[in-house]
Amino acid sequence: MTYRLSEDHPLQPIRVKLAVELMRELGLADFAELVPPRVAVDGELRLCHSKDYVELVRVLSEPDLRGGVGPAEIAAGGFASPDNPIADGMHEACAAVVGGSLVAAEAVHSGAALHAFNPAGGLHHASRDSASGFCVYNDLAIAAAWLRAQGHRVACVDVDVHHGDGTQALFYSDPEVLTLSLHGSGRYLFPGTGFPDECGVGVARGAAANLPLLPYTWDEPWLAAFEATVPALLREFRPTVLVTQDGCDSHFLDPLAHLQTSTAIWPRIGRRFHDLAHELCEGRWVATGGGGYAIREVVPRAWTLLFAEMVEHPELADGLVDAQPFAPPQGAQERVWAALEGDLRALSDQLEIPLSL
Ligand SMILES: [Zn+2]
Repeated sequence: MTYRLSEDHPLQPIRVKLAVELMRELGLADFAELVPPRVAVDGELRLCHSKDYVELVRVLSEPDLRGGVGPAEIAAGGFASPDNPIADGMHEACAAVVGGSLVAAEAVHSGAALHAFNPAGGLHHASRDSASGFCVYNDLAIAAAWLRAQGHRVACVDVDVHHGDGTQALFYSDPEVLTLSLHGSGRYLFPGTGFPDECGVGVARGAAANLPLLPYTWDEPWLAAFEATVPALLREFRPTVLVTQDGCDSHFLDPLAHLQTSTAIWPRIGRRFHDLAHELCEGRWVATGGGGYAIREVVPRAWTLLFAEMVEHPELADGLVDAQPFAPPQGAQERVWAALEGDLRALSDQLEIPLSL
């Protein structure tokens, strides 16, 4: 709850609290154990971030110390943008988000839990040396790196409406970590990356995959894109643990993006991740939150629907599915499908794996 970058910042941690309250209200929390996070230590943050960057974040977090940091250094660390204002205590607050994802990863690795969900996590834009897109430390990449260090092959699947660029960059040359991202096209949306030709380098070629989606993409093509890529690429990669970034900002009410899905996609996403985790990873599934800026209208419902699938009681969350999903005008529908077919073909060619709708 302390990961709050400013009073009027779009990322407000109250959304996590509202989501957990809704899970409790519906009785879903009874099927899981609530485990407290811990504050990740420097050695853990450094699984993905440089020593200098962690030091910069720590100094900027302290009002008494930050005066000594010059503007060039602030800009290089990603803190000159209004997306990532310098906030008191942000080092410790974000290290606690990372600690939450590490606690989840540890529980799944040890077998203490089959699945774990850290709704505060999913800070997928943070990269090795800089903050970006509301993210200071990349909790899910750190959890993935920790799992990899335990000997796992890790698949990171990111369904946030924004490309998971930070996570992708951190593992771009690592053949043991797959990053797969479905997102609003970078031609129209932050961070401007995530095209099919970004597919990893050297021995890791094929261990990154991206499918961009046009503005207006609604449930049907979104789910078709998900079904055409996620099962096939996971079966090909054969991970031993699944890490998901479950940003829910592709929703039609989300104020920061232009996709038009409804909450009806969440039971499908949850069930598919759940089944694939059992099919390929002996159940090991670490889920994180992510974007989602319709704080009261969408986030609690989307993540509760996901969680209901995780604990195998979807019937308790039935009422959270939007009664009226969105469907765009005919012309927009045709453009969305045509672009999806083209990008899927491009992805298929890059990865040399047949993928089709
Ligand atoms: Zn997002």
